[in-house]
Amino acid sequence: MVTIEDAHKIIRNQSVELKTEIRTLENCLGFSIAKEIHAPFEMPSFDNSAMDGYALCGIFQNYKIIGEVAAGSQQEFIFKEGEAARIFTGAKIPDNTSAVMMQEKTDVEGDNLTLKELPKEGQSIRRKGGELKEGQLVFEKGYAMTPAGIGLIGSLGIETVEVFKKPTINIITTGNELIAPGNIKSEGQIFESNSYALASACEQFGFTCQTKKQIKDDFDAIKMGVKASLETSDVLILSGGISVGDYDFVKQALEENGVEEQFYKVFQKPGKPLYFGRKNDTFVFALPGNPASSLSCFYVYVLPFLYQMSGSIKTGLERYSFPLSQDVENRSDRPSFLKAKIDGGEVKILDGQGSSMILSMAHGNALAYINAETSLKKGDHIACLVIS
Ligand code: AMP
Ligand code: MG
Repeated sequence: MVTIEDAHKIIRNQSVELKTEIRTLENCLGFSIAKEIHAPFEMPSFDNSAMDGYALCGIFQNYKIIGEVAAGSQQEFIFKEGEAARIFTGAKIPDNTSAVMMQEKTDVEGDNLTLKELPKEGQSIRRKGGELKEGQLVFEKGYAMTPAGIGLIGSLGIETVEVFKKPTINIITTGNELIAPGNIKSEGQIFESNSYALASACEQFGFTCQTKKQIKDDFDAIKMGVKASLETSDVLILSGGISVGDYDFVKQALEENGVEEQFYKVFQKPGKPLYFGRKNDTFVFALPGNPASSLSCFYVYVLPFLYQMSGSIKTGLERYSFPLSQDVENRSDRPSFLKAKIDGGEVKILDGQGSSMILSMAHGNALAYINAETSLKKGDHIACLVIS
């Protein structure tokens, strides 16, 4: 049995071999950058207009309009004092431009331009290099690509990026009582739901589950299923059969496949019978079968490791502290992750904290952490892992 902190430390200290690949801008959302990216040129790369209006030479009330510059135009003007040019947003400003006046503040008659107010030197001009200097660090290694990040890279003229590959994930669920949703349930059976919850939790954070397999509580079948899945995954997630029941064969099946235990059992609630192991470069999480425990263990332990394996600077769910909306007591001798809802800046601890109870998790949006044998009062701050 290890503590929550030790379990995290053991996970973090695994040596993982990160592989990279080249991806196009269309296909790199959520992937982490494998190499720093520096600006190949200044941005903007030329002085340009921030408005539709008039480029002005000198500061006056009246000007003579001598021409027009549209966005993308390469036309050059030799501007003299008192001259103006019609200009549009993003167009390169002519040399000698003192300011740009937005068209709403102008009157035009023929080629005579009168301003409704005097311009300030440099107004409405986006200066060359105003956003980025050439060579400036744009992204550090490990930055996970966001839509804005992808837009920025595109604006730098870069069309492919080197990113870390994401791990290949297989899921195996075990249990004689489980049947897939959509079938007719017999007495004593329940619908298998963990594979759906776990695969979609992977998806929620940008990871893909390659295969899902459901296996009976049969030692040989589990051993064979584990063997095949180990060969085709970087991370194998199992659910159920890892506790101390007579039909819990997962641990032995892993051992007989040469998986080396890194830890087994974490002093926490829920999710005590959590197992973590590795065989060469394949890592195995065996999660307890109770639906809320398995998903809670995914968020707290598996997700940080998936980020680690994908070269991300992210370390797991976002963590924030909020005041409690009610008194809370943890009578357990184990630290606990409570299903909770952050709403209006407060945390409500939800009814239905049993390890099998997924309803409260489905209605909540966070896991609140409370130490063993601890009482907290309304208004006290509690640390929350934010799920959604
Ligand atoms: P186990 O960890 O195998 O002892 O299972 C603990 C509890 O979780 C039992 O009530 C199981 O029926 C339930 N359970 C196990 N696996 C799943 C699953 N994949 N989907 C839904 N419930 C499950
Ligand atoms: Mg079972």
